[in-house]
Amino acid sequence: MKILVVNAGSSSLKFQLLDMENEQVIAKGNCDRIGIDGHVSAKTGDGREYNADCSFPTHTEAFEKLVEVITTGETKVIDSMAEISAVGHRIVQGADIFDKSCLVTDEIIDQIDALAELAPVHNHPHALALRACKKVIPADCPQVVVFDTAFHQTMPSKAFMFGLPYDCYEKYHVRKYGFHGTSHRFVSMELAKVMGKKPEDLKIVSCHLGNGSSITAVDGGKSVDTSMGFTPLDGVVMGTRSGSVDPSAVTYVAKKLGLSPDEMSDYLNKKSGLLGVSGVGSDNREVQAAADAGNERAKLVSDMLCYEIKKYIGSYAAAMNGMDAVLFTGGIGENSWEVRKGVCENMEFFGIKIDNEINEASSTRGKLTKISAPDSKVEVWVVPTNEELLIARDTLALVTAK
Ligand code: AMP
Repeated sequence: MKILVVNAGSSSLKFQLLDMENEQVIAKGNCDRIGIDGHVSAKTGDGREYNADCSFPTHTEAFEKLVEVITTGETKVIDSMAEISAVGHRIVQGADIFDKSCLVTDEIIDQIDALAELAPVHNHPHALALRACKKVIPADCPQVVVFDTAFHQTMPSKAFMFGLPYDCYEKYHVRKYGFHGTSHRFVSMELAKVMGKKPEDLKIVSCHLGNGSSITAVDGGKSVDTSMGFTPLDGVVMGTRSGSVDPSAVTYVAKKLGLSPDEMSDYLNKKSGLLGVSGVGSDNREVQAAADAGNERAKLVSDMLCYEIKKYIGSYAAAMNGMDAVLFTGGIGENSWEVRKGVCENMEFFGIKIDNEINEASSTRGKLTKISAPDSKVEVWVVPTNEELLIARDTLALVTAK
């Protein structure tokens, strides 16, 4: 069975076609710059590549191009879309309406679109892509939606409520939703497998560290708390996002700089974080290189990142009354031995002790590696994430269960 996985943004349509017999990627690519000018790039599992400028006024033309590149020309991998059993879509915000993946109906597309108020950058483009996909794929090809927030729907109310007037929750649905759920679910299940344990028997702190970062407490296979909140801005310092800030600092800065709410949101989401503190850039590699070269602000923000992650690990060990394993994933988590070291050093009190040699040697993305020392009470692992694969697995499970 072949499953097409789609991750649609406002101006891009990333895709992967997977063969579920062996869970291998047959082709992947991106229809980029939708509504601007348009560019498509695609690569097949056997190494063929295609790149071209095109015109994508809307997601529909981008979807038509996607179909063209996988069914014709240099990157042809299937004869027709009839060979695809289903399409799985990544959806950022499912709020408290969706606690698991589900088959797509027109009503569900409308519900996802209606949640755009909670995720303006993401949900409306997702709805556009779902409608475009429906126009382009065969009528009998089912679509499935997989939500970043669904995994966190198991959080208890004491973890997801903010100390705001209750009305704010009831009227405006303001609460912690959490994100990166597909990644946290995937890596925590992979870790249970490699540890030879059932997810129900494990307390894991999952650290997804990338351009956006979140830490999740996974108790018995369920998310019980997570660092991102109402939006993916909360939690630890990120590439261009501030992470948690005293709310009074936000109103104070907005007044000082004369920023509107939307401008203040840009300030926090696009100008802060590694970029804002270091002044060097948003990419951890650049910041690390600058810190190594003696840049004080780059060193400061690297230290802030490790310190904040460390504090989440400690607080989640308290929340779960224990911790069997800590895992690192995402671009930074999988590659940066420096960040892992900075997080794990001086954590003996929590039973965490890493093997520095193994940790330093483990800086290639995609390798599942145990980095804790043999006498560490808590196991520490690097677990490569694969959100597309989990989306494809959920999609397959739903369409075969029909
Ligand atoms: P992601 O959003 O998961 O793709 O992760 C992107 C982040 O991973 C960026 O901040 C990159 O700088 C960081 N990253 C990727 N490769 C490395 C590396 N070899 N060492 C340190 N950070 C890396």
